[in-house]
Amino acid sequence: MPLGWAGDREGPRDECGVFGIYAPGHEVSRLAYFALYALQHRGQESAGIAAADRGGNIMTRRELGLVSQVFSENDLRTLAGELAIGHVRYSTTGSNAWENSQPVHRSEGTNGSRSELALAHNGNLINAVELHDELVGRGVTFSSTSDSEIVAALLATHPAERIEDAIADVLPRLQGAFSIVAMTKEEVVAFRDPHGLRPLALGVIADVGDAASPEGKSGQERTRRNDSDRYCVASESCAFDIIGASFMRDVAPGEIVTLGRGGLESRRVDSEARKAFCVFEYIYFARPDSRMNGQVLQVARARMGEILAREAPADADLVIPVPDSGNAAARGYARASGLPQDDGFVKNRYVARTFIQPGQELRKHGLRMKFNPLPEVVAGKRLVVVDDSIVRGNTTRQIVQMLRDAGASEVHMRISAPPIKHPCHYGIDMSTREEMIAHERSVEQIARELGCDSLAYLSLDGVYEAVGATRATHCDACFTGQYPLDGTDEAAGKYALEVAAT
Ligand code: SF4
Repeated sequence: MPLGWAGDREGPRDECGVFGIYAPGHEVSRLAYFALYALQHRGQESAGIAAADRGGNIMTRRELGLVSQVFSENDLRTLAGELAIGHVRYSTTGSNAWENSQPVHRSEGTNGSRSELALAHNGNLINAVELHDELVGRGVTFSSTSDSEIVAALLATHPAERIEDAIADVLPRLQGAFSIVAMTKEEVVAFRDPHGLRPLALGVIADVGDAASPEGKSGQERTRRNDSDRYCVASESCAFDIIGASFMRDVAPGEIVTLGRGGLESRRVDSEARKAFCVFEYIYFARPDSRMNGQVLQVARARMGEILAREAPADADLVIPVPDSGNAAARGYARASGLPQDDGFVKNRYVARTFIQPGQELRKHGLRMKFNPLPEVVAGKRLVVVDDSIVRGNTTRQIVQMLRDAGASEVHMRISAPPIKHPCHYGIDMSTREEMIAHERSVEQIARELGCDSLAYLSLDGVYEAVGATRATHCDACFTGQYPLDGTDEAAGKYALEVAAT
């Protein structure tokens, strides 16, 4: 968890949240704004919305900053229209320039019906270099270093009349992780990589009866729904709750969903690919009130805590969470172990990235900006401290020391995920292998480094048991090093070098 001194969790950081909506008769930019607000945890460095009336020009507003900082009332009035897409972004080091904020907006298409296109992307392409070189060879120019603009350019320059046809042709050429929401002047189209690495959910703002299911649809087969329905797509279902939409289902891996004049249309491309949904979404990234693959994450995380208590009991007096990331798992651990639970820390919820730098004098107290231990709760106690992950260990080390300073007699760390040992190349910013505390260290060595009395991680089997899933349909490469897409390590490394040189 890279700890900005200001107290950001020193954790892996997701690189984006996306949203799209088609709602005739509604001014949708305000709905997109609130949906992005709900997705803010997926990216805090930039935010953007593109909106249009059917047939009108696409207006885009994107800027560095939080959703609440980027958009004014006036911006939302200017972003008029009944279809919109939105994006929040966390960028990797060195690439947080305005140019890389999204939605990407391109208008060089030669086809009259698609002279403009906006696109928002969550994920990471591992064959971006090849695609970029091919486009440059065709005379296409780029204004950013983002792989999202590569996809936008591939679609905007495609000769197919309908964007869905362009996507169906381009999609098999994209390797890596992508949950993408695009819009033309007429419709919103969302699509997900055939492995289903990153999440994408479909919602409806109407009482529409049975949800259309992608099951059994393949090739170019389509489903249609009522023309009067209003639909939305989002990285997580929590974005639907805030705007009064209902979760219908997850967009299926390899599915292209069109929200437009014809209601909801769906087609599948390459439904045979090995499924590889990111198991870390269940553990860490997604909001606890989101549902993914039939799981409400708050419930799944509590189950992880219960299984952790079974796998790694501790002779202790009290269970406390690292707030808020360890809350649900701590509840589960306490329930299963029979130990009492309390809050050992008070968390300051108003620490933001824009916080004034503390200077050298206060830097060593940085974490206290976010967590303050309660001596009245922890003094003299043998504590079980539950958190959801450890990447580099800097935050955990400080947490252990703070609890000892507050009088805890023993600190037993319990982590509701396996040790993280490998970087992610599918859209999550983690540290390098060498920076990870679990890299080439045993659990006992890590415990010594952290200064805790004992340390235990949830097993990978325990994670899958908690979410009722199997390895065969998921990615767990950051724990195992087994990347589900061939050539991931080399391809991703190559792209990183290319971008760094840009
Ligand atoms: S490597 Fe880890 S974080 Fe990345 S997609 Fe796989 S499980 Fe998720």
